Amino acid sequence: MDKKIIELIKLEQERQNRGIELIASENYASKDIREACGSILTNKYSEGYPGKRYYGGCEYVDEVENLAISRAKELFNAKFVNVQPHSGSQANAAAYRALLPQGGKILSLVLNDGGHLTHGSPVSFSAHFYNFVHYPLINGKLDYDELLKIAINEKPDLILAGFSAYPYQIDFKRIKDICNQVGCLFMVDMAHIAGLVAAKVHPNPVEYADVVTSTTHKTLRGPRGGLILTNNEELYKRINSAVFPFYQGGPFQHIIAGKATCFLEASSDSFKKYAQDVLDNTKACQEALKSLGAIVSDSEVHLFLLNTLDSFGLTGIDAQVKLEEIGVTTNKNMIPGDTLKPNKTSGLRIGFAAVTTRGCTKEDAHNIGKLIYSYLSNKISKEDALKQVSLLVSNWKKIEEI
Ligand code: PLP
Repeated sequence: MDKKIIELIKLEQERQNRGIELIASENYASKDIREACGSILTNKYSEGYPGKRYYGGCEYVDEVENLAISRAKELFNAKFVNVQPHSGSQANAAAYRALLPQGGKILSLVLNDGGHLTHGSPVSFSAHFYNFVHYPLINGKLDYDELLKIAINEKPDLILAGFSAYPYQIDFKRIKDICNQVGCLFMVDMAHIAGLVAAKVHPNPVEYADVVTSTTHKTLRGPRGGLILTNNEELYKRINSAVFPFYQGGPFQHIIAGKATCFLEASSDSFKKYAQDVLDNTKACQEALKSLGAIVSDSEVHLFLLNTLDSFGLTGIDAQVKLEEIGVTTNKNMIPGDTLKPNKTSGLRIGFAAVTTRGCTKEDAHNIGKLIYSYLSNKISKEDALKQVSLLVSNWKKIEEI
C-alpha cells in the first residue's frame, strides 16, 4: 500500500469538501464514473478502433468503446464520434490535423480574450504548426459583422469558435453562414459548454460545424478526457488516423468507460435540471455582485467575469489568493481590454458547474456573491468569512457521495 499517495488523496478529498469550488472548468464526477476510471480496464492495451485492434483480448473493451461512441452520438446528435483523445488539447491537435495541412490558416479568438492555449498561443503546439490570426471581441462580446469583415480580409482555411472564458452563448449558425460566405471550414471547441449543449440549454454546434471537439470533464461532468464529433464520414476517417496512430498510442479504456457512463448520466432528466440550475446559480451570483456595485460581465452560460481591479482595487491574482484564504477557489482571468499581464490580470473567472453538482441552491449562489463582495472589499473579517463558507458547504453533498 502506498501510504503517501493514499494520504495525499485523502488531503485533496478534504480540500475539495471544505471549499467552494468556483473554477469554471472543474466539476465532480460521480461515483460510477470514478469507479470505471479506477477499474481493471486500465490494464488493457487496445491500439486501434473497435473490431480493428492491434492486440488480442479486446472483445469487452470493444463493447465499452462502442457503447461510449453510440451514447455520445445520441447525446449530441452526431453521426460520427471518436472517444479516444486523452484530453481536450489532444482532441484539438487531431482535429486540426484532420482538417488542415500544416501551415493552414486558422481564424480564432486569442487566449487573452478567452480563447484556449491550443487556439494559437505561441507557447502551444498550435501556433507552431498552423498560421493563426485572431478576431477581436467588441466590449467583451463577439461581433459577427466584424468577424465577417476579418474573414473576408484574411481568407482563413478554418474559423474556430468555442472558448475558455466567454460568458455569452455563441450563435453557431451565424458563424457557419460566415464560413459559407468566405468558403472556409468551421470548427467548434465546445469543451466548456458541452454539458449545457447535452442538456439543450445551449445551441448544439454539431448541427453547423464540420468538426466539434470537447473535453468531458467540465460542464459535462465526466472523467478527464477529450472527444471529437463530426457528421462528415471522410473527415471522420481523417480524425481517427490523426488520433491513432498520429498523436496517441493505446486508448485509455478505463477512461472511455467513464466517458460512456458520463454520456448516459448526461442524457437523464436530472442532468437537464442540473444544467438549468447551473445557469440560474451563475446568474444569481453575478446579479448579487452587480447589485452591490461590482463590475461584472453579463452571464448566459456557466460562468462570468469579475473585474476585481475596478471593483476592489485588486489584481486578479491578488483577488484569487485572497479568496483562497477563505476556501473559495477561483482563477485569475484577463477581462476585456485588460492592460495587465496574464500572470496578474484585472479579474477573475467565476463558474458554478462544480458547486451546483454538490447541491448549491440559487440562494446559496446569491450569498456567495455577497460573500465575495464583502471579503474582497474588506467589509468582513477572515474569521466571519470562513464561518460563512463552512456553513454553506455543510448543507451540500460530500464529493464522495456524488
Ligand atoms: N479547449 C478549451 C476551450 C478549454 O477551455 C480547455 C481547457 O481548459 C481545453 C480545450 C483543453 O483541455 P485539456 O486541459 O483537457 O487539454
